[in-house]
Amino acid sequence: MLNCGHDGAMTENSRQERLGGLSPIRSGAGGTGWLKAALQNVRRGWSDLVFPAWCPVCAMPARGVCGACTARIAADGLVVEHVSVQGFDIPVYSSAQPEACRRVVSAFKDAEHFEVVSVLAAVLEDGITRAVGRHSAARIVPIPTTSRAFRRRGYWPLKHILIRCRFPVGVSIGLGSLEWVRPTHDQRGLDVRQRRENLEGALVCADRGIAGVPVVLVDDVVTTGATVRTAVAALLDAGASICGVAAISHVRQHAAD
Ligand SMILES: [Zn+2]
Repeated sequence: MLNCGHDGAMTENSRQERLGGLSPIRSGAGGTGWLKAALQNVRRGWSDLVFPAWCPVCAMPARGVCGACTARIAADGLVVEHVSVQGFDIPVYSSAQPEACRRVVSAFKDAEHFEVVSVLAAVLEDGITRAVGRHSAARIVPIPTTSRAFRRRGYWPLKHILIRCRFPVGVSIGLGSLEWVRPTHDQRGLDVRQRRENLEGALVCADRGIAGVPVVLVDDVVTTGATVRTAVAALLDAGASICGVAAISHVRQHAAD
């Protein structure tokens, strides 16, 4: 668990230290690091072909999200919806520009455009603040990356967005509170029953001290909500009190629910 200190804000140095693994240059330190750095630069070059210097939202020439799209995402703020898990009505806070934010998340996760992270962090920060509400001792719990996704990317995207956020006074972060305990298949293309079976019992809460703690679950993109429901159920089983869910984008896929 990571305590956030008095005001929850991290210094730029500590952020850079934590984000060091994101830099193709800095990741090259030591051992075979030069090879990793070279491969990352090749991969980044390829991603620039896929996502060239255009805004990932409006496709106008820009380095990262353009000013107009950044302003629109910020101005439109959040929407709140609810999911029901084990009889509890859980509020889900996410951007009022879900498709725009989904594109930005994709640019970050799939094309390694790390310069967009501040836009994502701003949305997530707002959602977390709303979900925390008056629960000053709340714990922020992100849905962990799967080992398959970690092997593919080499880092945990949501963690790198989360550590750019400032948090309300007194909250803590439980980066290791949830754990995948068995491999799962890619959810895309699975029907309702298959998604449920794929995720059932796959996430557990490893945080022994979470009973009675108000928790804000965090995810980047929510689609059918199957992963969120599985995570909330694992946290409830461990005795946590769920304040809400903060997501960057909720792109609804009702057909698979
Ligand atoms: Zn734009």
